Amino acid sequence: MPVITPRPAVQPLVRYTSSLKGRREGRVIRLSVNEGALGPSPRVAAALDRVKDDLHRYPPLGLEPLVEAIGAHHGIDDADRLVIGCGSDELLSCLCQAYVDPGDEVIVTQYGFLLYRHLTLMAGGVPKVAEDHDFTVSVDNILALVSERTRIVFLANPNNPTGTYLPQREVQRLRDSLPESVLLVVDAAYAEYVQRNDYSSGKAMVEAHENVVMLRTFSKFHGLAGLRIGWAYCPADIAATLATVKPPYGVSLAAVEAGAASLGDHDFQERSLRHNQEMVPWFSARMAALGLHVEPTVANFVMLRFPRENGRDADAARLFLDARNILVRKLDDYGLPDHVRVSMGTRDEMDITVAAIAEFLRTADAANG
Ligand SMILES: *Cc1c(COP(=O)(O)O)cnc(C)c1O
Repeated sequence: MPVITPRPAVQPLVRYTSSLKGRREGRVIRLSVNEGALGPSPRVAAALDRVKDDLHRYPPLGLEPLVEAIGAHHGIDDADRLVIGCGSDELLSCLCQAYVDPGDEVIVTQYGFLLYRHLTLMAGGVPKVAEDHDFTVSVDNILALVSERTRIVFLANPNNPTGTYLPQREVQRLRDSLPESVLLVVDAAYAEYVQRNDYSSGKAMVEAHENVVMLRTFSKFHGLAGLRIGWAYCPADIAATLATVKPPYGVSLAAVEAGAASLGDHDFQERSLRHNQEMVPWFSARMAALGLHVEPTVANFVMLRFPRENGRDADAARLFLDARNILVRKLDDYGLPDHVRVSMGTRDEMDITVAAIAEFLRTADAANG
């Protein structure tokens, strides 16, 4: 028994691991963590070059120019409602620290982002899991779990890892059916990729209600996962609370400058969107042609289902790809042992990946005679 023991809420938690652990030799194709396919905007390099002589300085407390750039880009006038974090992960953590007491309940969804459960447990809260329907969040199942003790509902929209989304009218119905004392957190990490008329990231809902927060990130569409930048758009009092809970200098000077530069590069954003719009249907069609089941997606990743047959299953596929330095995400910890999530990379990376998956299925066929 160690002398120093963690709080009881922390003891059963397991550490996050990923396929990115450890060093690899040679070219690596990383399709396992939904990073932006095209890398960062070229303007980011220039921004980082500008900050290199100021790295002995703390970042500005108001996080200018990033806050201004987000305001201008998204039409947000009130900077006091914006909270920037070291990735949206940090803001999720702050939300749980600020609003979840031991024993409080937090509603998450069956195939929702696993970090919500982890952070809830860390705060001493109790995650309640609402079953999905056809890999899509069910508003009715969420509402059925609401109790006196419910504090937060976490909704990833679009959802990771399923790639599905809820139309705005369903998110609004969820908000309108929740007690006003329950906070609805809409995590729109993939909002920039969605091309659907009935989708909304949740900005208008934040402005219309006192109990809705929208989370966004620079890690996916903006290709800046390495710099760790996320932001929350909140009712003013929630923003003030988060700003109080959050460490004051959690966002680096480099992040502040790079994020602003990326938001100013509309050309890069257009290219990123067009690339994803081409890649998703192309890759999905190739996978379907190979006989794999492909879930429709609105984001920058695709969920594939492998057959549960010896040598052709998802575990064998991941190992086969891993041995070729192609990293994809198996979804066992989501309760989906037959599924693999593949992020969209460059055209070249996807060509190589399609060829490798085709070879895997051929080899398996040959081995099975
Ligand atoms: C990637 C992801 C995040 C985390 O983003 P960071 O800003 O890199 O911390 C949050 N939510 C969902 C659903 C994600 O997929």
